[in-house]
Amino acid sequence: MTAFPAGTILGYPRIGRRRELKKAVESFWAGRSDLAELESTAAELRAATRARLAELGLGREDSAIPESFSFYDQVLDAAVTVGAIPARFEDLRDADGSIGLPAYFTIARGEGDRAASEMTKWFDSNYHYLVPEIGPETTFSLSNDSLVQQVREAVAGGYRTRPVIVGPVTLLALAKASDAAPEGYDPLSRLDDVLPVYVELLGRLKAAGADWVQLDEPALVSESLPADPATLADAAHRALAVLGAESERPSILVAAPYAALGDTLAVLAAAPIEAIAIDLVRGGVPAALPELGEKTLVGGVIDGHNIWRGDLAGAFGKLEQLRALGAVSVAASTSTSLLHVPHDVSDESLLDDRLVSWLAFADQKVGQVVTLAAGLAQGADAIAEELQAASSALADRRDAPGVRDGAVRGRTLADADFARAPYEAREEAQRALGLPALPLTTIGSFPQTGDIRRARAQFTRGELPADDYEDFLKREIDSVVALQEDLGLDVLVHGEPERNDMVQYFAENLDGFAVTQHGWVQSYGSRATRPSILWGDVSRPAPITVSWASYAQSLSVKPVKGMLTGPVTILAWSFVRDDQPLGETANQVALALRDEIGDLEAAGIGIIQVDEPALRELLPLKSIDQPAYLDWSVGSFRLATGGAAAATQIHTHLCYSEFGVVIDAIRALDADVTSIEAARSRMDVVDDIAANGFDHGIGPGVYDIHSPRVPGVDEIEVLLRRAVDALPVRQLWVNPDCGLKTRGYDETVASLRNIVEATRRVREDV
Ligand code: GLN
Ligand code: ZN
Repeated sequence: MTAFPAGTILGYPRIGRRRELKKAVESFWAGRSDLAELESTAAELRAATRARLAELGLGREDSAIPESFSFYDQVLDAAVTVGAIPARFEDLRDADGSIGLPAYFTIARGEGDRAASEMTKWFDSNYHYLVPEIGPETTFSLSNDSLVQQVREAVAGGYRTRPVIVGPVTLLALAKASDAAPEGYDPLSRLDDVLPVYVELLGRLKAAGADWVQLDEPALVSESLPADPATLADAAHRALAVLGAESERPSILVAAPYAALGDTLAVLAAAPIEAIAIDLVRGGVPAALPELGEKTLVGGVIDGHNIWRGDLAGAFGKLEQLRALGAVSVAASTSTSLLHVPHDVSDESLLDDRLVSWLAFADQKVGQVVTLAAGLAQGADAIAEELQAASSALADRRDAPGVRDGAVRGRTLADADFARAPYEAREEAQRALGLPALPLTTIGSFPQTGDIRRARAQFTRGELPADDYEDFLKREIDSVVALQEDLGLDVLVHGEPERNDMVQYFAENLDGFAVTQHGWVQSYGSRATRPSILWGDVSRPAPITVSWASYAQSLSVKPVKGMLTGPVTILAWSFVRDDQPLGETANQVALALRDEIGDLEAAGIGIIQVDEPALRELLPLKSIDQPAYLDWSVGSFRLATGGAAAATQIHTHLCYSEFGVVIDAIRALDADVTSIEAARSRMDVVDDIAANGFDHGIGPGVYDIHSPRVPGVDEIEVLLRRAVDALPVRQLWVNPDCGLKTRGYDETVASLRNIVEATRRVREDV
């Protein structure tokens, strides 16, 4: 057996430094390039990644470089590798049963009336994976050998890399039962059937030249999967007994990132594998270690989730603690794959140098791992200079102007700032808004047309003068308001044409944030987002949305909703400072929004929506951490909205339908009206709402904006009647599931017309 390298990373960004993969994949989808071109771009990207990682100091031949490429998603990669694809795509297999790249993309994206695989959030990150569908009809067989080919490709280029694949327990634990499966079917029941395929794969990887393989098993740290931790630990025990017994296999690293492994660490320690990677950023160093024998313990001490350079000496200290606890072989690593961070901070020529010195993107984190590995091999003295440099940067950051702002910190908070007048009093005061039964509204954005995007790009490049850009946006608002008047909506919006993104827009207009040029992070498939960096105390130099909202209001006698993004969502979709509790940062954002709400009220805006689509997304994986999270997240929303007068109607919007999970939090937000997604689940959520005794305003969505499909009047009427049957009419609002910005105008207008007509019909009977 070859020894595990002293330093490694669990995975590397796949989209390319300039999103080359996105461009190549989308061009292939659009038919502008062929399969061979796509394959060759991908091979170049993989080669560039290996070369870059070697240049940064990971060993070329000691399995330190992970082979972690994906065309779309690592969970789909594993599912396709073992042949676990939904029955509706079975005919896409080649004659020999294998599943090629075009079929892979079709499974990811759907085709005609064959629905795409469902997508959901990957642990507590902003990455989304494709949910495998498994049933009694699923047959497992090695159906794709891309990973084997990539190992061969690496060998041919002079590298011995470590192939990475989602392990069998996580693959099944994240799967849902297929449509054909009987009630209560558990995909994990197929564990014994999938293991022979993994055994075969391990053999082929070995033959291709892999000395080590990495099985990603993050399901083992999760408490929020259908299977409980003890069941998952038992599955891991059985799986590793089978995989470990295989003689012709590479050495096995099992990686369990995203949280503490807890008791399951003992299960892995006893398994016939050679190395275990644990997350010491989210998890912390355990109080004691089980007997590890010769196994390597890979300490994930460099944060794979965030972009801070951080406390390198502290990270090294954690590795030394592992040794002190009895681990004979310790290696340094990132806590998770680096797929959650952008490529390289040295690409950011427009960022302030001082800020840059506090940051570490993927390439800088690789450098940190290499430093720690040198320290493990040669002792702390050998890396004293690097540790010192990181500590100095940390100290510099602590004292830098803007990181702590006396004016922000001087604002004292009283309990009363977190509460509004009682709901009954607000409801009474808000009657003055004069809204009809079942008020009609939208979630905020209207289609972001090519014209809007072009004008914004020209303005950003300095090609369109600010006055002209402002005029352009006003004409856009004119037409959006006129359209809503014409449709007969009751509460109007300005349409958000000035916003590139609901978080970045606020980040650009608040102090304490920086925005990057190339800091893209994969969100799903070919989609990437460019999170802002929240580095300092947050304040609002000037009103942000007031002029747009008042302009829109000046065009109509109907109420226009002010539109803000809430503190939790701003934090969730940014890289957030790690030097103070999230709750403190959230309250700073909340105070800035509170001032904005005050200014909107003063400008005559009577309804204000504060979007919190990410409230559910940040919910910690461990139930023990959830109450504290809900406390600060709900608190920051209440602080943002707590200054609003009783007569001001506060709305919030959440993008999902799992109402039950966060019902107590939603109730505690105390918004006057909450809109949520409901169309996709055919209004099932209204039963949850009724069962939970929720009595504030609620707008369950009647139009699935994720699809270009126009819902018919009858279909919407059925949904509305279902809502009216389950809940008192005085509570109900009528709206789409979410914002309309990704839709085209044709389908938007047609759908809104149908919603208005269906509402007219239902109003006749209530
Ligand atoms: N107001 C936002 C919009 O309509 C809300 C988007 C969201 O919830 N993701 O675009
Ligand atoms: Zn939404």
